[in-house]
Amino acid sequence: MMKPNPHYAELKDSYLFAGIAEKTRSYLEEQPGQRLLRLGIGDVSQPLCPAVIEALHAAVDEQASAETFRGYQPECGAPFLREAVANNYLSLGVSVSPDEVFISSGASDELGDILDLFAPGNAALVIEPAYPAYLDASVIAGREVIHLPSGTENGFLPEPPDDGRAGLIYLCSPNNPTGAVFGREKLGRWVDYANRTGAVILFDAAYKAYIEDESLPRSIFEIDGARTCAVEICSFSKTAGFTGTRLGYTVIPAELTRSGMSLNAMWVRNRTTKTNGVSYIIQRGGAAVFTQEGRRQIKEQIAVYKNNAACLTEALDECGVWYTGGRNAPYIWLKCPDGIGSWEFFDILLNETQIVGTPGSGFGACGEGFFRFSTFGSPEDTREAARRLKRLLAK
Ligand code: PLP
Repeated sequence: MMKPNPHYAELKDSYLFAGIAEKTRSYLEEQPGQRLLRLGIGDVSQPLCPAVIEALHAAVDEQASAETFRGYQPECGAPFLREAVANNYLSLGVSVSPDEVFISSGASDELGDILDLFAPGNAALVIEPAYPAYLDASVIAGREVIHLPSGTENGFLPEPPDDGRAGLIYLCSPNNPTGAVFGREKLGRWVDYANRTGAVILFDAAYKAYIEDESLPRSIFEIDGARTCAVEICSFSKTAGFTGTRLGYTVIPAELTRSGMSLNAMWVRNRTTKTNGVSYIIQRGGAAVFTQEGRRQIKEQIAVYKNNAACLTEALDECGVWYTGGRNAPYIWLKCPDGIGSWEFFDILLNETQIVGTPGSGFGACGEGFFRFSTFGSPEDTREAARRLKRLLAK
């Protein structure tokens, strides 16, 4: 008889998004016709930029004639996109070879798939509050999870632990949900720690396009020593609106080896076994992001979300609310007023302002008492939400 993976039974049901959906549904049942201001969503609201749309159309047209039709693509990514990604790293002063870039269908897919590289015995360290996929993917793989709590005392950016128990370390910067961003020195201490203990860092850089302070690293490979201990996982979703189009990339340096095995070579073997590559059409759309026009256009889109962030943080500043994020990240992580709980604040916001946000407790126990706003909504809704928020917090 087939035996199912027993670790699925160890997954905790995420009450977070189901709870939000249920509470908003019953609110709308009681208050029909009310318009909700949704600051909870992680999805973007701006459309794909013209340069990407043009490239997608052109790539579709290529499929119409035998001379230009494209079939299977190389499993690790089309050379034109691997090169475009590698070239783009040069703007950060980082040298990456196209062979070290793997094109993926998005960061989520990759965060789960990449665990194939690591023996199940490796414990995974997750800094909490955390993007829920780190924990769940590790549990499904049967891995021990080391929960490292963070809080206001360290700006939600903790130092590495004293022991060397972790084989795998998830770092997310800019962070979802806290919006906190590692500075060079602290990130350097994590890199040193990983090199010293032999751990591998999975660096989730899905929100790197939101960093505006020049002093902050956008890539872990800006840090000395990272090439021997880190894998960087990136996404076109929040950089260029590919949440539904699906595209990402992962960088695995040639120097990253453990027990004499090259993780880059292992990932080539994995991809050539488990995928037949990402759609040619989508990869052409992705390459357009790196053109001069594409870069200019996505910057304009990101500016829309940054204006949303400024609108919300201004309201919070005015009301003296503690928060992280917003400036170098598309999320704002705030302390619930008057010491109330995350879900209690959710209910007050919903009932009194019709704003839907995300309770911090859904991202790990140490998120209790905090709350997340996303800045990906429409500018109109965000402006209205900021107005209502100010009115509520002034009470
Ligand atoms: N990593 C983080 C931290 C995220 O917040 C998200 C999506 O919200 C992802 C990865 C997933 O990105 P993608 O759309 O490329 O799968």
